Amino acid sequence: MKTLFLSLLSICALVAAEPAKAPAEGRAGRLLEASGVKAEFLIKPDRHVALTFLDAAGKPMARGERSVVVKVDGKDLALEPKPEGFLSKEPLAAKEPAPIVVQVRTTADAKPTNFRLTLNTANCGGCKHQEYACSCDH
Ligand SMILES: [Zn+2]
Repeated sequence: MKTLFLSLLSICALVAAEPAKAPAEGRAGRLLEASGVKAEFLIKPDRHVALTFLDAAGKPMARGERSVVVKVDGKDLALEPKPEGFLSKEPLAAKEPAPIVVQVRTTADAKPTNFRLTLNTANCGGCKHQEYACSCDH
């Protein structure tokens, strides 16, 4: 009985420890998913963009050889490589809505996968996400 109690206790400890390991931003951003690419596009409160590559389970994974081009309103956004993705060097311009194109290449000579979204950081009343990351069909 004591052994069972102890193993239950350790399971609880494991479950409790899990959320702390997840990135602080959680999954507040827009999920980009197509042909072998899975990434989170997040506009931080300071309007810097963080692009994080995710594995099949939705956990951040190593960037590897992947490269990314982000165009906002037709202009390239300068990006800084990070171990698990990219971070913009500059905050986004204030103009909203604006078209955003995210182009992901898995290797330097691979065909790019394009994602289109709209820059809109207003809060959606339905899902509480910002509009660019809206997950409800309001
Ligand atoms: Zn919504």
